[in-house]
Parts: sequence; C-alpha cells; structure tokens
Amino acid sequence: MTKPATPATEQDHKPSNFLRQIIENDLAQGTYASRRWAGSPGDAAHHAKGAPDPAKIRTRFPPEPNGYLHVGHAKSICINFGLARDYGGVCHLRFDDTNPEKEDTEYVNSIIDAVKWLGFDWSQLGQTPGTSAAYQASDYFDFMYRAAEALIEAGHAYVDEQTPEEMRVNRGDFSKPGENSPFRSRTPAENLTRFREMRRGLLADGAAVLRAKIDMASPNINLRDPAIYRIRRATHHNTGDTWCIYPMYTFAHPIEDALEQITHSICTLEFEDQRPFYDWLMDRLCECGLLAAPAPKQYEFSRLNLTYVITSKRKLAQLVNESKVNGWDDPRMPTIVGLRRRGYTPESLQLFAERIGVTKSDSWIDYSTLEGCLRESLENTAHRAMAVLDPVKLVLTNWDEVMGAGHLEPCTQPALPHAEEGAEVPTRHFKIGKEVWIERDDFAEVPPKGYKRLYSGNKVRLKGGYVIECTGCTKDADGNITEVLATIIPDTKSGTPGSATVKASAAITWVGVNDGLQAEVRMYDRLFTDAQPDAGGKDFLAALNPDSLKVVTAYVEPSLANVPAGAHFQFERHGYFVTDRVDHAGDKLVFNKITGLKDTWAK
Ligand code: ATP
Ligand code: MG
Repeated sequence: MTKPATPATEQDHKPSNFLRQIIENDLAQGTYASRRWAGSPGDAAHHAKGAPDPAKIRTRFPPEPNGYLHVGHAKSICINFGLARDYGGVCHLRFDDTNPEKEDTEYVNSIIDAVKWLGFDWSQLGQTPGTSAAYQASDYFDFMYRAAEALIEAGHAYVDEQTPEEMRVNRGDFSKPGENSPFRSRTPAENLTRFREMRRGLLADGAAVLRAKIDMASPNINLRDPAIYRIRRATHHNTGDTWCIYPMYTFAHPIEDALEQITHSICTLEFEDQRPFYDWLMDRLCECGLLAAPAPKQYEFSRLNLTYVITSKRKLAQLVNESKVNGWDDPRMPTIVGLRRRGYTPESLQLFAERIGVTKSDSWIDYSTLEGCLRESLENTAHRAMAVLDPVKLVLTNWDEVMGAGHLEPCTQPALPHAEEGAEVPTRHFKIGKEVWIERDDFAEVPPKGYKRLYSGNKVRLKGGYVIECTGCTKDADGNITEVLATIIPDTKSGTPGSATVKASAAITWVGVNDGLQAEVRMYDRLFTDAQPDAGGKDFLAALNPDSLKVVTAYVEPSLANVPAGAHFQFERHGYFVTDRVDHAGDKLVFNKITGLKDTWAK
C-alpha cells in the first residue's frame, strides 16, 4: 500500500477498500496538489466559503432535500465524511436542489440534523466558520447558466423543440440507435437566441429543452444528446421565482462538484452509466476555460440493501401516509430519525458502515449485522438495570418470620458489571421485601425438561438478592396463576460470605413490589416478516409484521427514576432499551426495545 502524502489520522486501523486505495494513490501522486481555483473569478458562490487547500481531498454528500434520510444514506454519509476525516480532507454537505417542485426546507433541516447526529462535525470538515453550514446547488444557478451558454457558443448544445413524444421515439433504445433531431443543426447564434428566450419566459413549460450535442448513435443512451436545461415555472425554496428554467441533475451535479473543487465524487452504482457524460462535460467546460483541470472524478460503490428493510423514499412515504407506522420517526422506520428514536447510536451506525465495507458488487446485508453493531456500541456503556416485562407477583411466605414484618433489605449491583478495574462505576440501589415482581415464564407448575428456574422444590437466586426455594403458586377461579410462592433462605444475600453456601440452579431478574416503578415498554420488532419485502415487485404491505409493536406495562428498578429521554440501558436478560425521545417524561417512563441480547431471527 502506498503511504499517503498527507499525514493520516485514523485510517491506519481501517480495513482498506478500493476507494481508500484510489485516494491514497492520488495523495501519493499529488494528483490534486497543483490544482487552481476552478471557475471564473467573481463568482459569488466560489468565494462564499473561502478558497480550499489544494493538497486536501474533498468529498461530498449530495442529498436531494425531498425526503428524510435513511440507513442507506447513513452509509453514504459515513463513507464521504469518514474518508475526509481519515485522510485529513474535507467533506461538503451539499443540497442537490435542482428540482424545485419536490423540495422543502423541512427536509433541509432534517438532513442537517441527521448528519450532525451521526457524529460528523462539518465545521471541521471544510466549511468556513460564520458561513452557512451547507452548500447548495441552487447557489450555482448563475454559473450553470453561463456554462450552458458557453456550450452553445462552442457548438456543444442546442435548443430542441421536438415534442417530448418525438424526443422519446428518436432517442432509440438499447437495440436501435437514435435519430438526430431536426433542430440539431441550428447555428450557435440561433441556439443562443432561443435559449435566452427560454430563460426570459417566452416559451411554455415543456416547449423546448437545451440538449448537449454528443452522439445520437452512442451505445450509451445517456450520451444520446441528454437534456441539460428544461423550462419549469415553479417557485424554488432557495431562489424563489428568479428562474423559469432549471438545470437537469446530470448537468448540474458535475458542475457543483467542480465548483467546490471536489476531488472524489463518490456515488452509488446506478450512476455508472452517467460517468461518461460527467467526464464529457468536465472536458468541454475546461476547454471553454470555465473550469480548470484536474476535474473531479466520479467513483461508484454498491448501495446498501438491508434485509427486512425498504429504502425507497416513495415506499417509506407510503408507510407514513397510510398510517402503517406512526410518522417518519417511528422507531420501526429505517430513517435516521427512526433509528435514532429506536435507540441506535451514532457509533453503532458508523461501526455498521465500516463493517459492511465498500464494494462494487450488489449484495444484501443481513439486518442482524446492524443489530450486532448496536450491541457492540452499547455493551460497555449502557447501564444495566432489572425490568420485569411480563410481571407476576412472587410472595416470600416466610419473610415476616425470618426478616421481620415490613422489613425492606437494601441491595446493590454495579451499573456496569464488566467495567475495567479502577473505573468509576455507579452502583444501583434497590430493596427486597416480602413481595417482588418476577417474569411469568420464570415459574412453571410442571417444569419442562431441563427447566432450571422456579418450580416447587427448586432453588433459584433472585439476582443481587437472596436464594429462594419455590413452594408452589396460588390461582384464581379460572385457573390463572395469581401469585408464585417461595421461601427465602436467610444469610444467602449476594455479596455476603453466606452467598455461596446454598446452590441455586439459576439466577432470575426481579423488581421489588415496594420500590419498583411502573413503565410503558414498547416491544419493537422487525417491520416486515419477509427478508426482501419489495424485491421483484412484491407487495411490500403484505409482508408487514403484525407483531412489530407490542406495548406492555412493566416494572423497572428504582434506579431508573428521573432518567432523561434518549438514555440507553441493558435490561438484564432482555436486551437493549432506550427511553423514548418523544414520549418519555419524568413522571411517565417510556422505554423502546432496541434489540435483544442475541439474534433471535437467525435460522
Ligand atoms: P431519489 O430516488 O429520490 O434520488 P436517493 O435515495 O437516491 O433518492 P438522494 O437524496 O439522491 O436520494 O441520495 C443522496 C445520496 O445518498 C446519493 O449519493 C445516493 O447515491 C446515496 N444513497 C441513496 N440511497 C443509498 C443506499 N441505499 N445506499 C448507499 N447510498 C445511498
Ligand atoms: Mg438520488
């Protein structure tokens, strides 16, 4: 591996991939070191954020602000911001807002929040303090317009006034070359006049488009004179009604990259066929003197496909609009706001992005990989707690006699049992009395084979408390178990010398009836039962998991009083939980289940 010219900060520990190799090679070769400031001087857009340091790599994350970001975007964010961080470069958050009808500032703000929350501080990544935190394509509309005129003047673009239907037919298809438009031979002067009329609003929406003049017979259909400007009378969320013509994405995107001096323009594989046009446009604009070489280069990686998850913005919107979920931030949604509310941490998503890596071949990642990253991120940080999710009362029938009537015995447990020696670990305090809550399935009237928990005659430890011996249960008239009965064995308290004197066949979790707190626990599971719910045109709504949310009333230990919203815990034996960002309040405990301690979906 070639050593990078720029001192690396973190990449030494990271597994290599083809993008890292390209970047390391470019840094070693000094590919971009001699670059000068692209574009013509005086362009306000260029100077707004300060001149870049040419020795640095520059990447960008370019969402269209037309929806909420999802786990696939998280991968792209981690790649782009992560590479910039690891190679001492910069990464631009850029709104690709060339499509005025669909975009909205609500989405702009949610995207900014998502990137910040994921842990990427772009004030450190290339944005000049005191300026707007993000770049936006619409800031370059003036330059794009000039670029279009320059292409026309050089004979590389023409105004086509065929009907959309004629254009479609004349484009040909994979087996048939396209046909030249009758407008293709217009002179640059004619084209310039007509284009300016487009801009002045003299033509109706859809009456004409500006097309690049490349090759109607190209085997790559994207090179058959692609449209680069269209007429659309729509108010833009940034530029208002200044424009009635808007650049097409394929034309705008390379220009945005070039103006921001992006070095590595990293996108998903579906843009591979667009790369020849990207390069064509860069070459023509360099020839015209509007841009300076070396131009940015596009590299493609495979998008994230995650089992049990859909990432189509349209289908996610359908789930929200048809109330299949409770909004964009429903904890079952794969949106970044949903994952956050569910309890996923920025560290877990960064770890996930790293673990799945970057490749050029399409594949499916198993959902359990994401859950595994969450467990890893919380294993050593989430405080432990006991919670009883399906409570039944356990009565210690000899309590009054051996411990004293009404006595409550204080117990303690470490919040982090596996903390390093010397680390300051808070201690959890709770009390045991005559009655405690236990899980209903920790008692069996007739124990199945191998069952080690409570059944008549068996001894079990109440975790952090005493060893008890089960004596049976009481039932109501319908035969439902109302109480489990046991006797406490004195002098067996955890942490005392007597704790080892009596052998218990299992340790079970519990919460004191006296000091336990009632909590609402939202037991979330996968939203779909089918690993590929929308593959091959399947009806994804038919695969919705009817049990993706079950709400239970649970009891939790008193150390969880007054915990803030968004706090993570490991409920012993149950899994990872988080206090709900929206509904949890001081006097109302609401926990979301993030994931269990082990993968229960594995075959
Ligand atoms: P649309 O269909 O509306 O274009 P999109 O998901 O492509 O939706 P963009 O806002 O254009 O949304 O995406 C921003 C960036 O995120 C793009 O560079 C895109 O390649 C990347 N991206 C989108 N989906 C995924 C995914 N599943 N995996 C990895 N990257 C993705
Ligand atoms: Mg897109």
